[in-house]
Amino acid sequence: MNSPAPFDFDFFVIGAGSGGVRAARMAAGFGAKVGIAEERYFGGTCVNVGCIPKKLFVYGSRVPHDHRVAEGYGWQGPAPSLDWPTLIANKNTEISRLNGVYRRLLEGAGCPILEDRAVLVDAHTVAVAGRHYTARHLLVATGGWPFVPDIPGKEHAITSNEAFFLPELPRRAVVVGGGYIAVEFAGILQGLGAEVSQIYRGDLFLRGFDQETREFLAGQMRHKGVDLRFGQDIARIEKRADGLHLTLRDGSTLACDVVLYATGRRPNTADLGLEQCGVQCDKTGAIVVDDTYRTNVPSIFAVGDVTNRVNLTPVALAEGMAVARRLFGGKETQVDYDYIPTAIFSQPPVGTVGYSEEEAQKRFGAIKVFTSTFTPLRYTVSAEKERSFMKMIVSASDDRVVGMHMCGEEAGEIMQGFAVAMRAGATKQQFDTTIGIHPSAAEEFVTMREPTRT
Ligand SMILES: Cc1cc2nc3c(=O)[nH]c(=O)nc-3n(C[C@H](O)[C@H](O)[C@H](O)COP(=O)(O)OP(=O)(O)OC[C@H]3O[C@@H](n4cnc5c(N)ncnc54)[C@H](O)[C@@H]3O)c2cc1C
Repeated sequence: MNSPAPFDFDFFVIGAGSGGVRAARMAAGFGAKVGIAEERYFGGTCVNVGCIPKKLFVYGSRVPHDHRVAEGYGWQGPAPSLDWPTLIANKNTEISRLNGVYRRLLEGAGCPILEDRAVLVDAHTVAVAGRHYTARHLLVATGGWPFVPDIPGKEHAITSNEAFFLPELPRRAVVVGGGYIAVEFAGILQGLGAEVSQIYRGDLFLRGFDQETREFLAGQMRHKGVDLRFGQDIARIEKRADGLHLTLRDGSTLACDVVLYATGRRPNTADLGLEQCGVQCDKTGAIVVDDTYRTNVPSIFAVGDVTNRVNLTPVALAEGMAVARRLFGGKETQVDYDYIPTAIFSQPPVGTVGYSEEEAQKRFGAIKVFTSTFTPLRYTVSAEKERSFMKMIVSASDDRVVGMHMCGEEAGEIMQGFAVAMRAGATKQQFDTTIGIHPSAAEEFVTMREPTRT
């Protein structure tokens, strides 16, 4: 597709993260002339300070656990000790490699990369490093950024961004927040050897997930030694010679070396020129889009975390692809937000797809709930124990499986495949007639015969 004058580009993308890179590459693949601006790092949050380094940290933090399990299998020898700089350096090396991969993907697709901050000037123009570029269509894929609430001493707190670059492993860490990032970091730091407290102002973390699964995870985390404090919040942080002193809302105090706030992220829309162009944002600062990701300014689109809808990498990718296909591939593609599987890389991890029991009751009325709690085979000969919990929710009227939740080893891996079955409308009877893989934890999902409750 040739770029018709007077535009420099057919498509200009702001932000080379998950959504932006995917949209740019696909659009270029359809023959569009594409430009992209990135102000910080290639691959965005996921690659640099999100999914990837987080999962590497999770793997690293499981080593002491695996060593304790190994003793039950007869392996002897001293427990390995952590060299923190090696972990950080190796993680950084892998991230740099991925930055290079993303850069080459864009270069290979023929997208000129402008390595600077871009701002919108008008409905068809962006400014990058003092130069103006015009495009028929603009895509804002600038992601989000963590914030620390306004409390005295907030300057002593860190966010997940800094947690990936700490100079040393803290001996005592406090994680604040009840979302999945807070839960994951509590597990990582505890697994690596820190004393961890997690503070959350609500009555139980992971709001919106299945209640029983949340309770099960809380039990497992407490069993591992994470000090979970619900219904609590920090009122003040003070820095003293021996570390940070936290005063909680109830007046109690807590000392630590690091306090990590994972209490929320805001869409990256400040000073982006959106107001000047008349692009509508909601009260959280998120860009408002229709179901084709078009803003109220017809030539400007937005995908991913900047729209603050489903803030997950695969969703940003799907949205980016939908925009590129629609604008340049001649295909109307709708992203289907039903039954999006997700994992929380807690310890043990949670994998989930579909409705929680609470939501299913509201939506389907009569439901059947099947549950199973067990010790996985791996732990039967080990002093180190980690229990697993599985739950399946079935709509009683049509036997359709509408919710599956697991807290236990490999939950994320297990749930991906079941998500396909659920999206295809699988019934409980079809699960029951599927032969299990034995011995595995996943087979439990095809052998749940009697409901726990109806
Ligand atoms: C700690 C953590 C763990 C996570 N774990 C998971 C996980 O396990 N699984 C999962 O699916 N999701 C996870 N996420 C969420 C996931 O990272 C995001 O949903 C995803 O990265 C969103 O992609 P995006 O394209 O919208 O934005 P981003 O990936 O954030 O990319 C936005 C890009 O835009 C750039 N940018 C911003 N403003 C400008 C500007 N004005 N000019 C030029 N460039 C600009 C930024 O530098 C950035 O590179 C995690 C997030 C965090 C913080």
